[in-house]
Amino acid sequence: MQWTPGDRGDIRDERGRSGGFGVAHLGIGGFLVLLVLSWLSGTNLFSLLGTGGGDPSPSVGTTGQVASSPAEERVVDMVAAVTKDAQNMWGELLGSRYQRTKVTLFRDSTPSACGFAQAATGPFYCPEDGQVYLDLSFFNALSRRLGAPGDFAEAYVITHELGHHVQNLLGLNARAASDRRTGADSASVALELQADCFAGVWGHTASQPGRAAAGKVELDPGDMEEALRAAAAIGDDRLQKMTTGQVMPDRFTHGSSAQRVEAFRKGMTTGDPRACGAAVSSTH
Ligand SMILES: [Zn+2]
Repeated sequence: MQWTPGDRGDIRDERGRSGGFGVAHLGIGGFLVLLVLSWLSGTNLFSLLGTGGGDPSPSVGTTGQVASSPAEERVVDMVAAVTKDAQNMWGELLGSRYQRTKVTLFRDSTPSACGFAQAATGPFYCPEDGQVYLDLSFFNALSRRLGAPGDFAEAYVITHELGHHVQNLLGLNARAASDRRTGADSASVALELQADCFAGVWGHTASQPGRAAAGKVELDPGDMEEALRAAAAIGDDRLQKMTTGQVMPDRFTHGSSAQRVEAFRKGMTTGDPRACGAAVSSTH
């Protein structure tokens, strides 16, 4: 995948702040409450918050300084370029119905309107504040633990989350909210597969030749396969098998590997959000 680094306008960089919020945002009262709860429960709740221990120094995590490496900064540039590119596409497809959002980068944990974003939960979209949350360490897990390396695999993850933003703007997630079912046939799995399909729609756009020369993201040969591998790698059946040794379709939250591959491929080959079951041309 080719992209031009530079514009980070769609990124909210909280990496320098993350990890210290337990102190910075809880205040000393919250700190003491957490200390007592940790003691009562026998669990170090600070470790859940990513603060690591009992150091109440308020300087931790409040400086906004980012300790990073050139390699990590390159990943940030990629995330920024993909986010901008995908949002430009949605702006063209949806017109005034699309509202730009930001990808919040964090380390370990950060507050969101949906609760505390944790690195362990993986990337997610928060409908309450309309933002995507991403800890870059997820890409290491994607590459090493799940066996799906590559920048387009990472772009697929980002554009999947942006797909949830599109659903939120179009009210497509409202139906799923009233459906309390889980499993392969549930409305929530259908939403996840639609987000995969939306990621594929961007993949279609980004595969047009000549984009790199215009400063946009352009796919390389083989990128499509890379994304399909990623879609297969994070199918519920595969993750369940990895973590529990068995497959439980009634507990699916994102769809099987085969379903996710199929959804992404549908978007990628058509380049049309309507193929993803979204009536994006209707006005309301
Ligand atoms: Zn999702």
